[in-house]
Amino acid sequence: MYGYRCEYCEGTVQPLKVKREAFKHKSGFVILEDVTIGICNTCGNRYYSADILHAVNDIATGAKSPDRIDQIPVTHLESA
Ligand SMILES: [Zn+2]
Repeated sequence: MYGYRCEYCEGTVQPLKVKREAFKHKSGFVILEDVTIGICNTCGNRYYSADILHAVNDIATGAKSPDRIDQIPVTHLESA
């Protein structure tokens, strides 16, 4: 499903198995674990298969329940 040419450079998109990958969506984040994403071997741009994007969308919209909910630490910088 990967192995195609990068959209941004001459590189090739290679499959890469990652422990965690965070996806941003309208109302927050979804984290997928042990997922195979595509990464360009030249510029490092990340690519996601339709399966991954569907899974993120299903969790984000509540169509599917997540395995668990992790809390994400949030803070403000006083000096910012
Ligand atoms: Zn590239």
